[in-house]
Amino acid sequence: MQYVRLGRTELEVSPISFGAIKLPGISEDEAAECLNRALDLGINFIDTARNYRDSERKIGLGVGHRRDEFYLATKSSARDYDGAMADLEKSLDELQMDYIDIWQLHTVSDEETWQKVMGPGGALEAARKARDEGTIGHVSITIHRAIGVMRKAITCGEFETIMLCYNPLDSENVAAEGILELAKEHDMGTIVMKALSGGQLAYPKDQRIPGLGGPDAIVAGSLRWVLSHPAVDIVIPGMQAVHEVEENVALMDPFEPLTDEERQELVQRLAEHGGSYRYEQQCLRCGYCQPCPQGVPVPEIFKAVQIVANYPDDLKYLGYDLYESLEVGADACVACGACLEKCPAGLEIPELLQSAHETLTSRA
Ligand code: SF4
Ligand code: SF4
Repeated sequence: MQYVRLGRTELEVSPISFGAIKLPGISEDEAAECLNRALDLGINFIDTARNYRDSERKIGLGVGHRRDEFYLATKSSARDYDGAMADLEKSLDELQMDYIDIWQLHTVSDEETWQKVMGPGGALEAARKARDEGTIGHVSITIHRAIGVMRKAITCGEFETIMLCYNPLDSENVAAEGILELAKEHDMGTIVMKALSGGQLAYPKDQRIPGLGGPDAIVAGSLRWVLSHPAVDIVIPGMQAVHEVEENVALMDPFEPLTDEERQELVQRLAEHGGSYRYEQQCLRCGYCQPCPQGVPVPEIFKAVQIVANYPDDLKYLGYDLYESLEVGADACVACGACLEKCPAGLEIPELLQSAHETLTSRA
């Protein structure tokens, strides 16, 4: 593994790092196995979040005894000082650790949230204090979609790394808008999430086609696509199986940027594989938004939209049927916002549910 400098944090980290968002879906023993295999193979950066259910606890249990072999990043979705401090304390407790290398203000994805975290009594004050006291090493931020907020976060000088979504589809226009380059101009570390669009940029498990350097050409091609961008430092694909860890790490042995021909091949494979990728592909199906007080089954609704959007015409009925089979529809959402902070993908769930209902009730 060739390590890279993560901007002005000066941490030397593995370009393929461990995204721990999916650990809640596996047992403690399986999580420990994956995490230990990752460290054995040279991964030295693990990223989690306070709202990834029991992910922090599983990291502590699985590799807490190897704490000096990896850097740890976690996140708080709290917007105010007290909430952020409470999150930090809870994270340390769950992790059974006394230090977090990178602490990120999570999903600061609109102007209003930006004002809250940056203003008096905001979460940034908690991060600064924790850094002064030595509980955390570096203050960082994660942002979805909001290009304007990304620019502010990069130029304000408060944050040492930025985590953002980037994949071959660049649906958030991060590369197109020059955000990655801007971050590098300010010597920030760049951490890419959703390189596989929440697991959607992959062949179905039983139909994998090898190519582009890996046993799944779309996975290998997408990860190499991201790391081929000169302004990307690291990527954190979510992993929940030892073979995924091994396959991802193998891409670094040695890392080969995509050639022009390979780029074309990847685009071709993506086009054949799934058609257009839209917001419903951004849903990770993690279920963290559940339970909804109104009983709205958000992940199933987004799945139905995905089927209608991507399946061939003669199979779209599966999506409509799925929606009809649900006891509670998207129109039951009262936009209370209770799910918003729980969603690690930063989706505007109430708005998306509204359009989902329109789509799913317009069967031809
Ligand atoms: S915003 Fe809608 S989906 Fe989210 S918790 Fe409230 S009612 Fe449920
Ligand atoms: S809407 Fe968000 S929280 Fe709910 S399943 Fe999708 S990604 Fe997870």
